[in-house]
Amino acid sequence: MRRYLMALAVAAPALLASCHTEAPVKTAEAAAPMKHEMGAAAVDQQRLLNADKEPGSWLAAGRDYNEQRFSPLKQIDDKNIGSINLGLSWYADIDTERGQESTPVIVDGVMYLTTAWSLVKAYDVHTGKLLWEYDPKVDREKKGADACCDVVNRGVAAWHGKIYLGALDGRLIALDGKTGKEVWSTWTVPQDSHYTITAVPRIANGKVFIGNAGAEYDVRGYVSAYDAETGKLDWKWYTVPGDPSKGFENKAMERAAKTWNGDKYWQLGGGGTVWDTFVYDPKTNMVYFGTGNGLSWAQEIRSPGGGDNLYVSSIVALDADTGEYKWHYQETPGDEWDYDNTNPIMLADLKWRDGQMRHVVMQAPKQGFFYILDAKTGKLLSADKYVPETNWADHIDLKTGRPVENPKARYSESGKPAIIIPAALGMHNWHPMAYSPLTGYVYIPITISSAAYGAQKDFKYNPNGWNTGMDFTAGASLFKQPGAPKQGNITSYILAWDPVKGKEAFRIPNEEYGASGLLATAGNLIFSGNHKGEFVAYNATTGERLWSAPTGARVVAAPATFEADGKQQIAILVGARGLPPGQKRTSAVSANNSRILVFASGGTASLPTAMPAGLSVPTAAKINPPLLTANNETVAGGEQAYGQNCAVCHGRNAVPAAGATAPDLRYSGLLRDAAMFKKVVDGERAAQGMPSFKAILRDGDADNIMAYVIKRANDEKAAQEAAAAAN
Ligand code: CA
Repeated sequence: MRRYLMALAVAAPALLASCHTEAPVKTAEAAAPMKHEMGAAAVDQQRLLNADKEPGSWLAAGRDYNEQRFSPLKQIDDKNIGSINLGLSWYADIDTERGQESTPVIVDGVMYLTTAWSLVKAYDVHTGKLLWEYDPKVDREKKGADACCDVVNRGVAAWHGKIYLGALDGRLIALDGKTGKEVWSTWTVPQDSHYTITAVPRIANGKVFIGNAGAEYDVRGYVSAYDAETGKLDWKWYTVPGDPSKGFENKAMERAAKTWNGDKYWQLGGGGTVWDTFVYDPKTNMVYFGTGNGLSWAQEIRSPGGGDNLYVSSIVALDADTGEYKWHYQETPGDEWDYDNTNPIMLADLKWRDGQMRHVVMQAPKQGFFYILDAKTGKLLSADKYVPETNWADHIDLKTGRPVENPKARYSESGKPAIIIPAALGMHNWHPMAYSPLTGYVYIPITISSAAYGAQKDFKYNPNGWNTGMDFTAGASLFKQPGAPKQGNITSYILAWDPVKGKEAFRIPNEEYGASGLLATAGNLIFSGNHKGEFVAYNATTGERLWSAPTGARVVAAPATFEADGKQQIAILVGARGLPPGQKRTSAVSANNSRILVFASGGTASLPTAMPAGLSVPTAAKINPPLLTANNETVAGGEQAYGQNCAVCHGRNAVPAAGATAPDLRYSGLLRDAAMFKKVVDGERAAQGMPSFKAILRDGDADNIMAYVIKRANDEKAAQEAAAAAN
């Protein structure tokens, strides 16, 4: 605490010297980069606490400590948005191919963002000029395969002149805000482990808070706090217990160990990784974070006979200064559906159902219930089903705080695969939701999916790959039964949720499925990109569509809004999962047209509409696999290995999801060259984004996978020929 007070004392003259007045910055002159004693990225605790007094800035990924992603700016509103010529003011190409998930931080005329592969870029907001860029040079060949779900990054934190990055390989890096030069870098995870970082660092009291990912591999989840000035470790808190024979790090771990069975969990690592949300609450001086799935997913493998398995799939509160346990609430006891609870958490003051004001944390986790907890005590206030299709549990018993589960849901205990809604994708995933205190609604990007969950019968630890313990093929036949959901069918919409009533207010269906982050503003607007290739504004009270602009790309990231040159502007990072249907590549440096787009009234810029010089439209491939010569056993082995290692990018059953970034392997010429296929699997095309699986696959896996894909390609060829014959 002393350090915090000293930091404030040091920061005070800088605050006085700058022009932070009650009124938002209005003139172009005043909006030019300001001179702070702490340099560029001049964000401190006072500024974050008083963020509402400078609505023209977007000081942190979630704007301020509440992380509501609500802006008090209202120059653009529901009445004028159709008539102010809101258009593209500037854009910049992003030079990476994969998913772009970051929300820009915009402070004193500079915009800081991250891209895939943990690159950082700083732009002049007035002109779009690139001021500096930084590449942490992550070992792409190695870490690409450690990232379960793409090599993404969700953004930076700005603090006392520095920009903070959590790099994919687990380094926490502080950069000079003015130059992008590295100030310090520290490994937050053991090197040569399967841990990764994709989350935004959060900073308060002079400490940087960061978690990590990897609970599909062989890791033990933890969070840590580092001194923002020096990069020195301050405290560390594990989310799941380790080997009990070595003693416990603290009382919380001792309690947690009583909720696990056997010894597989700590041998595997146990999971519970904190891969996204982390919120600091100035009112309680606590940090709150959500924990991910247990490791393995199948509970009978990691904890035979069940148990709650604390603290997986929970919200945990720690003292921000000491890392001491304060409270937890476990949303999915004994999770075995990959119901990560890492989704964005926001703080709010709500007039509660009993008429009293309550300071709360709110979360819409993967598993379909919207939770509101008292921020100070963790007491459960409500848990309402926010997507009616949710079927793993009927409801949450508010007396016990526990879910009333679907009796068929525990597939590993029963040994019977079951179709569960939602699938591991979740009803809501990492995509930021937004809350408007004016409408009282939380806006949530929803995706409805289903999956057949089944446990592996002969689980063997794989030191290099996934250890989920899942048989991804076990329940496939269930989808053929009457009344089953359509396999692979995914729908999505934007939900306006009234948290106090615990009811849906309205929904906005997405024509093209896929979730995108949200922004709410005091102009009674919500902004969101979509997967059709648009950036759209809606009326925040009714959901009416009011304005749109083309993005040329799918959008998963959330927008930020700020003021520059006297105008409210909106920034959105675009690019993910291939291209929107029917659209073509127009970027010389990114196959999915990744760009940062900035919109303002009177904006007259336009996106390129043609292929860049030297690139041509690929002609549609004809399916032409070799004959299948492998035996059934080889193909079945390949199906398992494919499901474990390839399906997440190349698609279940070797059929890529619409707009998938990775190619359709059934059409690959590599199927005719086993040696080359093996080389690519071993990392030959790592620079193009196909990570090396050399250390991950077992002997013979590559050949088996190739045989399986040849089988699937021949299935497809036969289906195409049958369809052609029928016409
Ligand atoms: Ca997970």
